[in-house]
Amino acid sequence: MPATVIVGAQWGDEGKGKIVDLLAQDSDLVCRYQGGPNAGHTIVVGEETYRIRQIPSGIIRGKACAIGAGCVVDPDVLIAEIDDLEARGHRTEGLVFVSGNAHLIMPWHVALDGARERRLGRLQIGTTRRGIGPAYADKATRIGIRVQDLLDPKILREKIELAVAEKNVWLERVYEIEPFDAQEVLAASLVHAARIAPWVADTSLLVDRALRDGRRVLFEGGQGTLLDLDHGTYPFVTSSSPIAAGAAVSFGIGPRRIDEVLGVAKAYVTRVGEGPFPSEIVGPDHDRVQSLGHEFGTVTGRERRCGWLDLVALRFAVRVNGITSLALTKLDVLSDFSELPVCVRYRLPDDTETEDFPAHQSDFHHCRPVFEVLPGWGAHVEDELPDAARAYVAFVEQALDVPVTLVGTGAAREHVLALQDDPLGL
Ligand code: GDP
Repeated sequence: MPATVIVGAQWGDEGKGKIVDLLAQDSDLVCRYQGGPNAGHTIVVGEETYRIRQIPSGIIRGKACAIGAGCVVDPDVLIAEIDDLEARGHRTEGLVFVSGNAHLIMPWHVALDGARERRLGRLQIGTTRRGIGPAYADKATRIGIRVQDLLDPKILREKIELAVAEKNVWLERVYEIEPFDAQEVLAASLVHAARIAPWVADTSLLVDRALRDGRRVLFEGGQGTLLDLDHGTYPFVTSSSPIAAGAAVSFGIGPRRIDEVLGVAKAYVTRVGEGPFPSEIVGPDHDRVQSLGHEFGTVTGRERRCGWLDLVALRFAVRVNGITSLALTKLDVLSDFSELPVCVRYRLPDDTETEDFPAHQSDFHHCRPVFEVLPGWGAHVEDELPDAARAYVAFVEQALDVPVTLVGTGAAREHVLALQDDPLGL
């Protein structure tokens, strides 16, 4: 299938990086469609561990990689990432394409992100403080600076001067922190411009041509469905659209160009930061799952809260993304448990039960999980799934009416089982 979207089906950190890495082998172009350097993918290749934040992870496979208009780009991070890859022996020349319409994360965005979170204190959103939310906010208020502005020093100067004049008022008077000097920011931006200019491209045309030529295009989402700005658990969400349709918006292609949507979900659930989490594990099993799954953030190092697999939330992800197949990662983490609760319904405050994700925030905040307990397999999962693990996977498939085509059995690149000969029709 030429155009495939890989989407996080939970709250992010599902192990998308490894699945993208796997499918990138058979792709010609790998596209990142939203977010900025807040979503870290971790890819383990032999002794090497790559933590990739800005560039699509297909770069490790030597594939052409594009960053779409729906992304925000921190020039320092992008340049450092490419320099690091080059230093580790990966060729990047001619492989990096950045939409001129993507917005830049400027230094005041980072400063404001941190200052705002500190000011919110207990009520903070739990952002990564990398300036992503403020950059998207400026995009929506039409005062953002775009990648293509780097190509025109006159426009760049005007935009930076205008932005600094306004942002400094906020920084000094509201947050009582150091202002920025427009000339210093401009000088740094011109240095960035020299590096980034060769990468700027019309990524809509690039993808359109690739698809017309019958080439395989993979779109990778960051974060996950429940963190989607419109459809996630607002306000504990990201400031962009991780859901599959975001790929079409970001790259300027029609939604019918997308052939397959592969949802990536852990065999359990994790969530970083605040907000309701119905299937969160209570008791010692929580810390067992957390430590067996190494559930600490790639970018922030923050502890991830852990829960049992939530089929209500996953059914929602299948619906809003149009998921056509699922990859269930980290099944190995559950190998030590003799019993595995799976959340099959939510009990709402009025004592009714539902299989569908509540549309109203208060229902979601106050619902309780209804678990069905499945037997564990008590054996390390390697080349073949034990019967109980197979039954666990079959239970998920039946509940969601979606095939599970890939199963993750370990952190390394090769630790993935394909449950069908041709998991994606590739
Ligand atoms: P992403 O943002 O969705 O790519 O997720 P992260 O990279 O933040 O988290 C995934 C983590 O889980 C990484 O450390 C991976 O190496 C690891 N991982 C991925 N798949 C598996 C798996 O099947 N089993 C185990 N044990 N670890 C995995």
